[in-house]
Amino acid sequence: MPAHDVLIIGAGLAGQRAALAAAQDGASVAIMSKVHPVRSHSVAAAGGINAAISVDDDWRSHAYDTVKGSDFLGDQDAIEIMCSEAPGEVMNLEHMGVTFHRNDRGEMDLRAFGGASMKRTAYVADITGQALLHVLYEQLMKHHETVERFEEWFTTSLLTDEAGNCAGVIARDIRTGALEVFTAKNVILACGGAGQAYRPTTNGLIVTGDGISMAYRVGAPLMDMEMVQYHPTCLVETGMLITEGARGEGAHLLNANGERFMEKSAPNKMELASRDVVSRAEQIEINEGRGVGPDGRGIYLDITVVPRKRTLEALREIVNLGRDFAGVDITREPIMIRPGQHYIMGGVKTDVDGRTPIDGLYAAGEVACVSVHGGNRLGANSLLDTLIFGRRAGEHAAARAAAMGPPKIDAGAQLKRDADELEAIIARPREGGRRVSEIKNELGDTMNKHAAVFRDEEGLNSALETIHRLREESGKAWIDDRGTVFNQDVLGAVELGFMIDCAETTVVAAIERKESRGAQYRTDFPERNDEEWLKHIDLTLKDGEPEVSYSEVTFTQWQPEVRKY
Ligand SMILES: Cc1cc2nc3c(=O)[nH]c(=O)nc-3n(C[C@H](O)[C@H](O)[C@H](O)COP(=O)(O)OP(=O)(O)OC[C@H]3O[C@@H](n4cnc5c(N)ncnc54)[C@H](O)[C@@H]3O)c2cc1C
Repeated sequence: MPAHDVLIIGAGLAGQRAALAAAQDGASVAIMSKVHPVRSHSVAAAGGINAAISVDDDWRSHAYDTVKGSDFLGDQDAIEIMCSEAPGEVMNLEHMGVTFHRNDRGEMDLRAFGGASMKRTAYVADITGQALLHVLYEQLMKHHETVERFEEWFTTSLLTDEAGNCAGVIARDIRTGALEVFTAKNVILACGGAGQAYRPTTNGLIVTGDGISMAYRVGAPLMDMEMVQYHPTCLVETGMLITEGARGEGAHLLNANGERFMEKSAPNKMELASRDVVSRAEQIEINEGRGVGPDGRGIYLDITVVPRKRTLEALREIVNLGRDFAGVDITREPIMIRPGQHYIMGGVKTDVDGRTPIDGLYAAGEVACVSVHGGNRLGANSLLDTLIFGRRAGEHAAARAAAMGPPKIDAGAQLKRDADELEAIIARPREGGRRVSEIKNELGDTMNKHAAVFRDEEGLNSALETIHRLREESGKAWIDDRGTVFNQDVLGAVELGFMIDCAETTVVAAIERKESRGAQYRTDFPERNDEEWLKHIDLTLKDGEPEVSYSEVTFTQWQPEVRKY
């Protein structure tokens, strides 16, 4: 039975940064991932990472932009930490070997991004996530004596002791099917978001809300779950992302009349307003019949206004993406896009050191909600969030481990429960049940229909009813693979359960919040209502149902004001 000071579930940017920090502070560390670490979804991040590095910039300006972007729901103490620590973190990454793009003067180049009052996004062409992830992985290799890697291991649940503290996990070796107990003084969840609960999404197939659900199932509260980001520029058919870096480089959005319609809703920032504002503006154009394409489902993103040489240098991946997935040369003609599910602002509620209310359980990255993004995340603030709060969680967990003895736990019953559940899924008969993939697709379509850019009570209630039915059906869903070696089918069934938890809590919170703020736009409550709703919605699992409570938003320097771009 492996035992460690700090066990990290997830090897994306948050997990790897946490592992590095904990190892540097002398802890024995294990890092577990259901895919090879450098295939974690952070690898897809394209546009860049925010930091007030420029001599003309100040972290307070970054913090204010983030607060405003969050529609004043972000906790300002956490935002101050993230933005003030950002320049040091980015410089540290550069010293580790990240080849950030440089300008003609040899300085780190910065590009414009949505909702930012000046250029502050450092980038490596449009492969920033990949560059960061590979450098961090190299750094982890230096600590191979104290960091044990469990690659292609799938965590099925969190272990808790009699007092309800977290004491490890149960995990399955994907290669062999063996199920094992891992004990740890501290567990850091760094499992990423839950985009696959939607269809389509910009998120990869592995982004299934596992960490959010596992924490919720052991009693950790979730926060801001109603806040789901739709990115303004996703390919119409596949939902694949065209990075905001394209608009940062100057691309325009055009409706069927060739108009730059952002003039109406964001006359100052235009295409570089925050994502919730741009996505809503696009959806209005589409809904009111000014969309482009065969059935008016799209909007044109015109990148031809960016000098071709610059596009080929700074946006080379989306040049390939446009050609391969839409048959469009973006340097010569506009490409059709629309808003698509991209990111969840909510997640496992934590403090600024990544601690959850459950002793021994931490969370960092997209799985967590600190909350630095509040109602809407600014582009290029997520990579920053993963690194700052990943590091802080790693440091805190290492210090806590140094001051305590190993957990005392008899995990036999929990191991048997998970083993029995997996066996039962594998043994399910085909008769009377649906395929896992059919249920997953219906879940995704339902969320995309009713819990998207625009929402109302009727649609959300109908979504909740469907989710309850799908939960029932998931209990009988059958799979093809009856084997043990690389049985992704059985893990897909487990992931379906995780996604249903995420979808349910998203919809319950969206029904609860009777106002419009950030990414939550209720057509039946179209105004922001600070008097009643300037608070977080927290959800805790009680008797199988999400129980709603509220928590205060933390204010430091900035009072709510009308949000205009
Ligand atoms: C296409 C795209 C482009 C983006 N571009 C940007 C950008 O330019 N700038 C920006 O700031 N943000 C960007 N984002 C957002 C950002 O990339 C993510 O929010 C961030 O990388 C999430 O990192 P993470 O470490 O929290 O999780 P991830 O990188 O998703 O890692 C999750 C880890 O958890 C593991 N895991 C999950 N469940 C289990 C389980 N049950 N058992 C074991 N392991 C498990 C996975 O294997 C993986 O290692 C982009 C997102 C997308 C989708």
